[in-house]
Amino acid sequence: MAQRPYIVGNWKMHGTRSMLAEARAIDRAAERLIKVEVALAPPATLIHAIRKEAGLIGVGAQDCHAAEGGAHTGDISAAMLKDAGADFVIVGHSERRADHCESDAIVQPKARSALAAGLAVIVCVGETEQQRNAGEAERVVAGQLAGSLPQGDLVADKIAEKIIVAYEPVWAIGTGRVPTVEDIGAMHRAIRAKLVEIYGEAGAAIRILYGGSVKPENAAELLAADEVGGALVGGASLTAESFVGIIAAAADRDG
Ligand code: PEP
Repeated sequence: MAQRPYIVGNWKMHGTRSMLAEARAIDRAAERLIKVEVALAPPATLIHAIRKEAGLIGVGAQDCHAAEGGAHTGDISAAMLKDAGADFVIVGHSERRADHCESDAIVQPKARSALAAGLAVIVCVGETEQQRNAGEAERVVAGQLAGSLPQGDLVADKIAEKIIVAYEPVWAIGTGRVPTVEDIGAMHRAIRAKLVEIYGEAGAAIRILYGGSVKPENAAELLAADEVGGALVGGASLTAESFVGIIAAAADRDG
């Protein structure tokens, strides 16, 4: 059976309980637009409340610590996120790679720890503008995939349910700039080839999301690019009005 498009909102460091009304409205839209799998990654402080108040959508976190527990002040383990109601966790977002110096070697254990706790994991990759201009985009992204994706015993089965890749060119995040549909298709095909190299046949079913300035106005075009299985949406996921526009575009995609 074909997978439903997956549309995930990343609220970043936005949102207090006053935004629960947006989550409820997104949940109601998801009930109507059943052709699409919808999820939100709010700040960790809202995971439990969204889980309770918006029962149909997936709920996830934006990061986790690699360790199960211990003396790591301010950090949250994957098992704690699961306990709070999370279904998944995003790891390796470019803002964390930049703000917290997270290298692939830091991201990969986080992804493993998410799987060990029973969470799905969205692993983010993407090149900077300088890397793209130097013709290095595909090489950089292939290296991030090899270094950040979980491998080994934890990923023996149900790989496509547990692992999602988000391709987010750093220069497209929050800038209003997007790659051409051809460039998105080319990168997604390259990512697919790498996933098959890493996971064998199972890599063919892993969803690859596009992220970077997705809006209701450009969602249909971006979601139609080759190998795009959904979107990771930042700014435009903060209101139900704009996020539901993107979900509706995804619902229309397959007719
Ligand atoms: C993101 O941060 O994951 C993102 C895609 O942001 P935006 O949609 O705002 O570009």
